[in-house]
Amino acid sequence: MNFIRNLIHKADRSLIYVILLSCTGIGVFLYMNKWSYLNLSTDGWVMVYTMLGAALILDYFTFQIPPKGNQQSMDSSVYLACIFMFGGAFSLSVLLPVSLILLIKERKLTWWKHVVNFSIYTLMIAGASFVFEWTGGQPGEINGYNLLPYFAALAAYFIINTMTLGLFFHFSTKDALQQMKRAFVTESLLVYLCTLILALVLTILVVHNGVLGLILYLSLSILLSHAFKQLFVMYQSIEEKANTDQRTKLFNHSYFETMLENELSEARRLGTPLSLGLIDIDDFKKYNDRFGHLQGDSLLAFFGEFLIQRTENTAVTAFRYGGEEFTLLMPGMELDEAYMFMNRLRKQLNDTPFEGVEVFPHGCLSFSAGVAPYQVDMYNKSQLVDQADKALYYAKKQGKNNVHRHGINEGMEHEIDLVQDVRDIEQQLNLFRYKDIDTFKHSKRVYKYALDMSEILELDNAEKRLFVLGALIHDIGKLEIPWSILNKKDTLTCEEWETIKGHVTWGKKMVMTNERFNDLIPYIELHHERYDGQGYPYGLKGKEIPRLCRMLTVIDSFDAMTTERPYQKTKNLLEAINELRRCSGSQFDPELTEIFIHYIEKRNMQQPLF
Ligand code: GH3
Ligand code: MG
Ligand code: MG
Repeated sequence: MNFIRNLIHKADRSLIYVILLSCTGIGVFLYMNKWSYLNLSTDGWVMVYTMLGAALILDYFTFQIPPKGNQQSMDSSVYLACIFMFGGAFSLSVLLPVSLILLIKERKLTWWKHVVNFSIYTLMIAGASFVFEWTGGQPGEINGYNLLPYFAALAAYFIINTMTLGLFFHFSTKDALQQMKRAFVTESLLVYLCTLILALVLTILVVHNGVLGLILYLSLSILLSHAFKQLFVMYQSIEEKANTDQRTKLFNHSYFETMLENELSEARRLGTPLSLGLIDIDDFKKYNDRFGHLQGDSLLAFFGEFLIQRTENTAVTAFRYGGEEFTLLMPGMELDEAYMFMNRLRKQLNDTPFEGVEVFPHGCLSFSAGVAPYQVDMYNKSQLVDQADKALYYAKKQGKNNVHRHGINEGMEHEIDLVQDVRDIEQQLNLFRYKDIDTFKHSKRVYKYALDMSEILELDNAEKRLFVLGALIHDIGKLEIPWSILNKKDTLTCEEWETIKGHVTWGKKMVMTNERFNDLIPYIELHHERYDGQGYPYGLKGKEIPRLCRMLTVIDSFDAMTTERPYQKTKNLLEAINELRRCSGSQFDPELTEIFIHYIEKRNMQQPLF
């Protein structure tokens, strides 16, 4: 038993599926068709030829439907019409020669794919014909008083199609079922309804007008296919225009935003690396000033062409971010690989001649660039862009014509006066002295804990700056909460709790007005997220919450437990440690909780807190 299980486990699941599907399809065909070819009359053969011709013509006029370009053809209307007129066995008699002709015609497609296709069609026809007769349908003329069998047959046809193809893609590409649902169900539903109506039209036309009816039907379907085709071509060209920057022929900013979002969620889902490069042409203004904007435009166009050529056949996609700034999205690339790619690009650009390059200080075309890697705890796309931007800023400061990696030489990258920043934030916190002295004192204590913890966690200068300032400012949003709620001694009502919860969002809005402190937003916004995903405002879980925000949550809660608050009893050190441990893994990150507890215990031994 175990041996068989192992074998199945090891064997390619998609292969097993294909074999099973093909056997079932062929089996059903043999069972249902029952050698009906032997019993066909001359008229029957003529009808098979006619329908076969119709199916082939419609298959030839395959069209694509926006937005993903799924292939659709109207040949299904022929098979359905055959079921409605002559039954499932006859419909299968048409399917077999069509499949054989397609096997010869489309030799590029491997043979087993033809078999799979044939099997899926067989199952669809068999299912539809069974449901048609089961719901009271009778082959022959259309019964206008009972349309149920027709719809039921279509539903069966559609469901079998979606399931068999969907599973095939699921096993062969391991793609998420979600994507299949969108591609098959959402996008094809309308086409299938059209198919049913066309099948009914075909049945009526053939039953009443024979070959003339069929010709009319084919003309109508070909015209429709053509119209759909045109529509798709138009859609594609509009989509292309909407995503392209006309000057450089690169993708534009808004498409970059979409792609970045997509790539980030892919990287998050699959755990693959992703890097982002931000490029800024050096001293472009000088070139513009010297030769005029028109010539500047042609340099931009030239640079666009350069990027297109150099990223062709690679996983890298280039975008015009704006002005003379460009982004490179590099899925599958770790930071160092991305850095090497960009540095190579820079050197190639230096060696590329262009009219008037002598005005540039380096005597050649050059750019400065920053590159940053995606990290699991990034919770939105602007963080990645910000990091690449910071690295770019540093590259410029280093004298231009170079590429800088985010995170390398962090200390120098953030030559920011921490003392001045602390002073500025404290000034804002001073407002709490009037409104809520507890929050004022709390913020300062949390800040001190954060200073100690940044030593223990061995943070570099940039991380330390963010962490301690974030700790100091994290409750700033409480300034917006009414005094009566902040200082209420009784239990808070649900509504009052909601108001308190709002402080994270208010705080974010307040800090957003000052660009200098924008990178502190995660600490303000996320310090009430919980490790188990039950926190607010987003319900982020585990490592989705940036590490230092998880650390802040522990510190913040510990301080809240151990100091006097209007609404709760103060805990002593031991009780607070027990509480931290009790909530470790649910509210708090277990690893960081232990580090903090260790620090508190050690500190208490040196200078007892309580
Ligand atoms: P740095 O090396 O520090 O990047 O200097 P810079 O001169 O390249 O950068 P700065 O930001 O000072 O100037 C950018 C210039 O790019 C200013 C703007 O007029 C020009 N620019 C932005 N978009 C276009 C455009 O589409 N066409 C042209 N010709 N110029 C543009
Ligand atoms: Mg610029
Ligand atoms: Mg520039």
